[in-house]
Amino acid sequence: MFRTAIPLGRWAGVSVRAHWSVLLVLLLITDLLASAVLPRAAPGANTAWYWVTGGLTAVGFLVSLLLHELSHAAVARRHDVGVRRITLWMLGGAAELEGEPPTPKADLRIAVAGPITSLLIGGAGLGAAALAAGALPPLPVSGLAWLGASNLLLAVFNLLPGAPLDGGRILRAVIWWRRGDRARAGAIADRSGQVLGAALAMAGFAQLFFLGQFTGLWLVLLGWFLIFSAQAEFTAGPLRERLGGVRVGDIMNSSPVTAPGWWTVDAFAEYAAGAGHERVFPVLSFDGVPVGIVSFGDLIKVPAGARRATRVADVARKDRAVTVVGVDAQVTALMERGFPRPGRDLLLVTRAGRLAGVVGSDDLARAFELAALGHRPRTTDGRTPSSLKA
Ligand SMILES: [Zn+2]
Repeated sequence: MFRTAIPLGRWAGVSVRAHWSVLLVLLLITDLLASAVLPRAAPGANTAWYWVTGGLTAVGFLVSLLLHELSHAAVARRHDVGVRRITLWMLGGAAELEGEPPTPKADLRIAVAGPITSLLIGGAGLGAAALAAGALPPLPVSGLAWLGASNLLLAVFNLLPGAPLDGGRILRAVIWWRRGDRARAGAIADRSGQVLGAALAMAGFAQLFFLGQFTGLWLVLLGWFLIFSAQAEFTAGPLRERLGGVRVGDIMNSSPVTAPGWWTVDAFAEYAAGAGHERVFPVLSFDGVPVGIVSFGDLIKVPAGARRATRVADVARKDRAVTVVGVDAQVTALMERGFPRPGRDLLLVTRAGRLAGVVGSDDLARAFELAALGHRPRTTDGRTPSSLKA
């Protein structure tokens, strides 16, 4: 979902990035503050000051959003749950955890950390605004007050009981604790997220069409997001659980047909015609190091007259589309990179820099399908069930 995100460096050891849609939010909030909220709260100031205060307050809001996510991340780490990264985007922030919390207690603590932080920032903002009311000009005081109020709203909204909101995770932790069944608790929290999403989307539509308020669109988007991501979690959750601990080495094809990079396109096509059934191949250097991938589609693009003079390495794809993973990487870590395109892409699996195998779309699909059938893929060695052997 967040393929195009801008890195914002590491905060407290966690890598933070922002999706481009954050800029849109920054502009919308600045505009809302400068042209509506601030002129009403502190009339009679210079137009430029409304925009400066609006812009600074909007940045302050994004920083408080980041602090909310960082507090989830900090508590997760205290419970030995790794944090992959934090992404800020149009509808808020997301701290991606590397594993599942080990106990309901840990789940609960990680979930409540964010809303507590937002409540504290909200209280601090409103408190500071009250204290500064006489001492500072009304414009910065109004900015502070808005920042405080919006953080309180953020905390309350996030406590709504539906996944993937924090309230949904709290619900999951509580049901998990009472009934002792994590998967069942997760499913209930996801269902609740879908119901909540539908309610929010309907409220948004009503606001949009009956009250003519444009902000209703935001509620519609948010509702849609809740429905969509609750559904995704609903199906991905159990699969993720079943694939947990399965390594890339367990699902890879460990004896793929390889393409020597120094061969000509024509020589390799001749060789591949009689070797295996693959359409995409890892390309190796003369020293046996994987340097990229090449598909029949790539070879076809070379003009017929040039195929005897062009080397495979020259048409191999070495770009970012080629993913290189270690044999011990988790299969679940591959899930978020998206599926390799059939007949086009291949994941190269390495052991100590050498090619150990490849993972194509069929290998991944096979792992998911086996997981759906309740089985774990194991290292394949082409064994035939003994009952079928002659
Ligand atoms: Zn949160």
